[in-house]
Amino acid sequence: MTGLYAALDIGGTKIAAALADGDGTVLRRARVPTPRGGGTAVLDAAARLLDGFAAEDVAAIGVGAPGVVDPAGRVVSATDVLPGWAGTPVREALAERTGLPVAVVNDVRAMAYGEARAGAGAAFRRVLHVSVGTGVGGALTTAGELERGAHGTAGELAHLLVPERGPVPCGCGRRDHLEAVAAGPAIAATGDPAGAGGVLGRALAGLLAVLDPDAVVLGGGVAQIGAPFLDAVTAAFRAEALPPLRALPILPAALGTDAPLVGAALLAKRAVT
Ligand SMILES: [Zn+2]
Repeated sequence: MTGLYAALDIGGTKIAAALADGDGTVLRRARVPTPRGGGTAVLDAAARLLDGFAAEDVAAIGVGAPGVVDPAGRVVSATDVLPGWAGTPVREALAERTGLPVAVVNDVRAMAYGEARAGAGAAFRRVLHVSVGTGVGGALTTAGELERGAHGTAGELAHLLVPERGPVPCGCGRRDHLEAVAAGPAIAATGDPAGAGGVLGRALAGLLAVLDPDAVVLGGGVAQIGAPFLDAVTAAFRAEALPPLRALPILPAALGTDAPLVGAALLAKRAVT
């Protein structure tokens, strides 16, 4: 099938949409502020964005959505970043509105898939994607495929125990989890991106001995701070890691804010080919 693929990146403040070809190249894009009013209002707005493309040869839709998404494309749980989002049957509801096949994954997984297929991780077999923004997220891909794990948490990093106590709580409420120390809100509270990067690098040194990937891709809003954060992650990792892991490539994400859209478009293609 050679058609076009539509992609949605649903977030707490905006919904971004793209029309992409089968390589994940974004041809057109659009965005609207995320409406309040729960899952129905959000999906109505998302469907209108796609209508606006007025493209007739769209073969499928891919969606990156916040929260834990089950294999049926339903949001099992979500934080209050999007009130009323938990429980939304995204795949079923968008398929009803558009008449097209729909693939839905968690937004960090969409990013990881985009980077693994068409971005910084494309040259590597097993890639841990680490996203540092308002939270800390992660996903693991092997040979370009997302690893879901038995419970859908493979690659999840936020709740790794760290010796430090964060200035803000982790999404789960704890202060001794990686997300409480290394995510954007902690850096905003302390102004110390290098300190946060150091904690992440040390945590990765232990974690990567378990996962043994070929490369790590670092993305998300905090990673866009650049050198003060990325250099600290890399230096702490290299200082702590087991010798065989020390030279492991730690790469900045290559697709920027397009990553979830590229990943969603490629997941849409995967769903119908
Ligand atoms: Zn936690």
